[in-house]
Amino acid sequence: MVLEDKTVPVKEDEAICPTAENSCAIDVGLEKFLTCDDGSYVEIPRFLRKASLRLARLQRAKSKFPKGRKDKQKLHKAIAKLHQKIARQRQDFHFVTAYWLFLKADVVFIEDLKLKNLIRRNKPKPDGKGNFLPNNQAQSSGMNKSWLDAGHSQFFKVLEWVAWKLGKRVIKVNPWGTSQYCHACLNKVPKSLSDRWHSCPCGAELNRDENSGKLLKLLGLGLASIQTAPLRERSQRSIA
Ligand SMILES: [Zn+2]
Repeated sequence: MVLEDKTVPVKEDEAICPTAENSCAIDVGLEKFLTCDDGSYVEIPRFLRKASLRLARLQRAKSKFPKGRKDKQKLHKAIAKLHQKIARQRQDFHFVTAYWLFLKADVVFIEDLKLKNLIRRNKPKPDGKGNFLPNNQAQSSGMNKSWLDAGHSQFFKVLEWVAWKLGKRVIKVNPWGTSQYCHACLNKVPKSLSDRWHSCPCGAELNRDENSGKLLKLLGLGLASIQTAPLRERSQRSIA
């Protein structure tokens, strides 16, 4: 993927200042590809899900094949071809989505994925004897998930490139607490990963990802702040 184009230089000091009107924030996830703070969302395309399943099937088949068989060569070629096809389709989808976002807004707030991965680890389960019991970390970082994670960081690169091309802007925000706090009253509303709905005593009732998007926008604009826990403590909490 070539993301360099020196024909449209945009000077730093011309960068757009984000306001509530000209910006939007997106929450990326495993259920929806992304959810905007206005409640609109983009599904993970079905062709990508299907292709990744097909790829996994072919790879399994290849690993079971005896060495040196001619058919194995064929399988190898089929896998390489499918890889290429998925990469192309995914990139197209990323570009379409990025342009769609910049039709809505001049500034897009995104989650800082490096920080997000740090705080998303499952809570360790000590057994009281100094050892740790299984906490399903392996399952929740399974193939499908890592595949999607990679997709999100690739998407952010495309988004930044499109922003630069259009003279718009992408701003990374620390997503700590965006899934656990209420965007309306900033109180903590604890949720597990499977709770898809945000229901707060203050009356806020909305989709979990939309709440995260709304809160991310407020944090990005500097209109709200959540007291963040020290990094080590953060990484041991089950916050996604
Ligand atoms: Zn609330």
